[in-house]
Amino acid sequence: MAVYDPKSMKADEFINDGEILETLAYAEAHKNDAELIDRLLEKARPKKTDTGCVCAGLTHREASVLLACEIPEKVARMYEIAEEIKLAFYGNRIVIFAPLYLSNYCVNGCVYCPYHLKNKHIPRKKLTLEEVRAEVIALQDMGHKRLAIEAGEDPVHNPIEYILDCVSTIYSVHHKNGDIRRVNVNIAATTVENYRKLKEAGIGTYILFQETYHRKSYEELHPTGPKHDYAYHTEAMDRAMEGGIDDVGLGVLFGLELYKYEFAGLLMHAEHLEAVHGVGPHTISVPRVKKADDIDPAAFDNGIDDETFIKLAACIRLAVPYTGMIISTRESEQVRQRMLQVGISQISGASRTSVGGYTEAERPHDTEQFDVSDQRTLDDVVRWLMESGHIPSFCTACYREGRTGDRFMSLCKNGQILNCCHPNALMTLAEYLEDYAGPETKALGYRMIEEELKRIPKEKVRAIAEQNIRDIRSSNRRDFRF
Ligand code: SAM
Repeated sequence: MAVYDPKSMKADEFINDGEILETLAYAEAHKNDAELIDRLLEKARPKKTDTGCVCAGLTHREASVLLACEIPEKVARMYEIAEEIKLAFYGNRIVIFAPLYLSNYCVNGCVYCPYHLKNKHIPRKKLTLEEVRAEVIALQDMGHKRLAIEAGEDPVHNPIEYILDCVSTIYSVHHKNGDIRRVNVNIAATTVENYRKLKEAGIGTYILFQETYHRKSYEELHPTGPKHDYAYHTEAMDRAMEGGIDDVGLGVLFGLELYKYEFAGLLMHAEHLEAVHGVGPHTISVPRVKKADDIDPAAFDNGIDDETFIKLAACIRLAVPYTGMIISTRESEQVRQRMLQVGISQISGASRTSVGGYTEAERPHDTEQFDVSDQRTLDDVVRWLMESGHIPSFCTACYREGRTGDRFMSLCKNGQILNCCHPNALMTLAEYLEDYAGPETKALGYRMIEEELKRIPKEKVRAIAEQNIRDIRSSNRRDFRF
């Protein structure tokens, strides 16, 4: 039987079933232990230092106790601390991105995904590079600067060379004042050599959802195709890091397995990356299974209600304070609003989950991967964020300045956010307002920028940011960054 070892490179040892079961039993036994829960909350709370702020985080066991806890005032306190952590390390900025579907050809048999091989009636489509250009222009015309590219797994239709060609095409398009400055990649687990090629192509984060950490369920949910191999999939982030990618994004598809099991597995994965590579995941995504072409979410037994979902996100925030957290348009405006208060730092906006969807006047449904709940325009999303006090940020500076992996984390920990990320967010917001916003959004945005500039502590930084924003407003000069 596999023994738990966070430093092991074997999936069954760093995501260890025995350890997860013991964790869940421990959490169940201590879920009403108010004294322990208070100690854990105190540990998770951000603490001021001379140079900024630090957070201790929580182990998978500790965080599992909080997730199991049902004492209303303790749960309320978890939400407060989650928000404090978000504000301490990420400020009131929310980074915006959009997914871009390249191809829905897929050789896998994932039972929750409509792109599975046996689905013979869904139209199969793969963008040509000309079509990629057209999609990118449509995305730039909305105001997007950051994309996550998505593709099914198909070595014949979607080989790594195709993905690399798409990445360089995306970076090459400069339409009007637009450009895509960061391309994150969500493609199937692959080899170290291919990860190295992705790194050389200048990708941002490599994202791969585990779907479920429960080996037996994983194998049943992926009955056929290369994705069936649990260990190959689970060890993918180690290969990505070996290939030089130091920003990786984890995620679980909630609804497939018991959420408490997934939660412990997800945190163990983060602990493993930290133990072996010295840097945890750059982001964690929290998708829930949605209705899609031939997929009914009710067919899966482990769906979680909105309240549990919010608590789950808050507990992730407490456990891994320096990791970005992403919520997509799978969720409604109402759920996203609440998620913003418990630690989410990135959201997608105006997403279309079909191949070639952005160039169509009406939202196409034929090749969609799943139903989109939040169907608002990007301008609506930007305005909505500002109305609730969040700065919509199109910033991509860190990765372009080489601040990835542990260098990004140390910026976070040194409290340099207000002197760096904050002005970058304001400058990229000004670009959005000038080039793409409707009149109401523009007026609200400039009022916000004026107020937020006052919060930049270093006078010199503030003066440069003010000058750059004046330049953005009076000329076509773009892409300023600290
Ligand atoms: N094909 C790639 C892979 O094997 O990892 C990843 C790209 S896939 C387009 C992105 C993610 O969408 C999947 O990892 C899965 O978690 C999610 N997804 C698939 N079907 C879904 C559904 N019905 N509802 C919500 N999300 C879904």
